Amino acid sequence: MLIVQKYGGSSVADTEGVYRVARKILNTYKSGNSVVAVVSAQGKTTDYLIKKSAEVAEEINKRELDVLLATGEQQSMSLLSMAIKELGGDAVSLTGNQAGICTDDNYGSARIKHINPERIKREIDDNRIVIVAGFQGINDIGDITTLGRGGSDTTAVALAAALKADRCDIYSDVDGIYTADPRIVKNASKLKEITYDEMLELASLGAKVLHNRSVEMAKRYNVRMMSGSSFTDSIGTYVKEKCEVEDLYVRGVAGDKDVAIVTVTDMEDKSGNIYKIFDILAKEKISVDIIAQSNNKLNKADISFTVKRSELKKSIKLITENLERLEAGGVVFADNCAKVSIVGAGMVNNPGVAATMFEAMYDENIKIHLISTSEIKISLVIDEDELETALNAVHRKFKLHLINEE
Ligand code: ADP
Ligand code: ASP
Ligand code: MG
Repeated sequence: MLIVQKYGGSSVADTEGVYRVARKILNTYKSGNSVVAVVSAQGKTTDYLIKKSAEVAEEINKRELDVLLATGEQQSMSLLSMAIKELGGDAVSLTGNQAGICTDDNYGSARIKHINPERIKREIDDNRIVIVAGFQGINDIGDITTLGRGGSDTTAVALAAALKADRCDIYSDVDGIYTADPRIVKNASKLKEITYDEMLELASLGAKVLHNRSVEMAKRYNVRMMSGSSFTDSIGTYVKEKCEVEDLYVRGVAGDKDVAIVTVTDMEDKSGNIYKIFDILAKEKISVDIIAQSNNKLNKADISFTVKRSELKKSIKLITENLERLEAGGVVFADNCAKVSIVGAGMVNNPGVAATMFEAMYDENIKIHLISTSEIKISLVIDEDELETALNAVHRKFKLHLINEE
């Protein structure tokens, strides 16, 4: 079998970890498999490099930042390759460029366009274990790009698709996908499996256990994906098109603190004005998540929407500059918000799920600022300092601690 494995930063945080991973890779290889292993930067290296760049420059150049950040993964790949050789194996480390990973030129959050896997294939044919630096590629003009935080998962899935690998195993410090982040909800249950669609929602709504683009890609190319622990040999969670236990009302909950609310107040209630708000934001590539309108006075509307906190300042500036054009009275914001979400494919056929979620908030006296729903999720925007309580309350209300799929 050809197996792609991915080891995250916590798995290779120190020399002991590098050797633990090297042994795991060698065991897979010695069982008769070809192995391509994608590796992330050690521990908190990426955070450290970002901090370093902020010490040097006030306005950080995105191209240069990508050059810097890509070095984190390059350290890990060579150390891992050295450890495998030390243990008697034969490995070769490759940067994103050497591995043929071609991206667009969106520095900091580049998308993989295609992969030229010839070099990797040659190394596999020569019976070498191939170690690839995660999270990076090269654009059309030959510059290094990175795929966004958590992007090594996406490198692994993209390689699995390009190489037509039999499996793509993503190893981290948690032994699978749980009904909630087990660091926050202590009695969260481990899932045996989850659908691509559910995992994509959870990842996009804050469950960072898998990078959302990796799940999107796994779905598109039908990659057999598993999330497991590099610290144990227990079986992880499979991410697939359909699950045996189908249509659970709620398969998981997720929280996200990267939320700010902007409210345009006392706007003349015309659809043209609403169009103008979101057109102004779209032209500046600011993506808006939840939108709500309320009418407190005759012919006047308040329009609220959420953006990422990093986009708040720019959003306020744009709206303030255009208040007259928008026929609005003012703009206010709240940057201490968070989003709590539930996800489940079975939600659509079960009335009462939203009511149960609201009841969980009511039990804890948590104020809801905004609401958004789709066929498979419900999200509520609340105050940031209530997120942990909210996640635990919702988890308890839907009895997710009782899910037992072992
Ligand atoms: P890596 O560095 O290996 O990529 P991450 O830190 O990105 O690992 O992802 C693993 C972490 O994801 C876990 O330590 C856990 O706290 C967090 N996490 C968030 N939501 C979930 C969930 N639903 N199930 C499992 N882990 C989750
Ligand atoms: N090292 C990068 C990060 O910390 C990529 C990754 O870990 O997947 O975000
Ligand atoms: Mg990760």
